[in-house]
Amino acid sequence: RSKTTQRGSCTLFTRQMGIEIRERATLMQHLHKAFDAKRLFLMYQPQLDLRSGRLTGLEALIRWRTDDGALIPPNEFIPLAEYSGLIVSLGAWVMRTACFTMRRLQQMGIAPDTMAVNVSVVQFRQDDFIDYVRQALEDSGLSPHQLELEMTESVTMEGSKVFAQRLHTLRQMGVHIAIDDFGTGFSSLSYLDKLPANKLKIDRAFVRQIDTPDGPKIAELIQQLGQKLGLQVIAEGIETRHHWDTLLRMGCEQGQGFFIAHPMPEEALTAWIQAHRSSAGDEKKGAV
Ligand code: C2E
Ligand code: MG
Ligand code: MG
Ligand code: MG
Repeated sequence: RSKTTQRGSCTLFTRQMGIEIRERATLMQHLHKAFDAKRLFLMYQPQLDLRSGRLTGLEALIRWRTDDGALIPPNEFIPLAEYSGLIVSLGAWVMRTACFTMRRLQQMGIAPDTMAVNVSVVQFRQDDFIDYVRQALEDSGLSPHQLELEMTESVTMEGSKVFAQRLHTLRQMGVHIAIDDFGTGFSSLSYLDKLPANKLKIDRAFVRQIDTPDGPKIAELIQQLGQKLGLQVIAEGIETRHHWDTLLRMGCEQGQGFFIAHPMPEEALTAWIQAHRSSAGDEKKGAV
């Protein structure tokens, strides 16, 4: 009897796996086509100085719009792109596109300090990673200090000397490094101290926690850690005035989230920045 059950669940398992693999293969094919057909595009989310309201940065976030108009979130296709290796060319395209957008904003006189680009570990492992960062900067005419690379703890904590050296090279060039989703991975504190990063990004799970009985305790811990290590700290996922106020009160001075602005395509972004700059709050407070 137990044999039947086992065999039964085994069959089910294999069948489900088969479907999943087939779905994944199909999705992967579609993704490759979408990339070729330019169905992928970037949205940009503003990052603010929470005290003055000044626009300090932008984060580029990739989107995939399928032929029938549906949007597939990056969390669904980035892992696939990493698995298939497409992330290398995809990531290079993201980097260039974000740099060129930043350059256009600069030419309009409305660029913030930095443009942040998410970098996958698979991309970062490529031997020519630094070369194509340099190339994107050179071709777009951006200065290295206008570019920020967002990497997760898993990338930055990778023990290897080569990767640590690579991060140092980027820092020496002037490129900013932010550790994304901080607190959700496994950071070694001793390594963190030596890490060539400028910024910690408080994961939005810890901002959401502000609304629970736990309150902002983890966010506060990350803020204090960042401060001790001489790193900037930015909170992601600010959805309410209460989040903003709480973060500011505990000393976190930068943030991004739906309460401030959703990620936007470039045209909407330009309009948003112009409106934001002319809104009394920003310019006046920022200038004082
Ligand atoms: P992430 O880098 O941590 O990006 C933050 C995510 O939070 C984005 O989701 C953003 O749209 C979302 N978000 C921002 N503010 C709020 C808020 O107030 N509330 C809520 N609920 N969400 C907010 P998105 O765009 O779906 O991206 C998800 C993840 O996909 C990113 O997480 C990043 O890890 C990855 N990703 C996005 N674009 C790229 C890319 O160009 N390259 C790579 N390698 N990864 C990317
Ligand atoms: Mg990010
Ligand atoms: Mg993040
Ligand atoms: Mg996150």
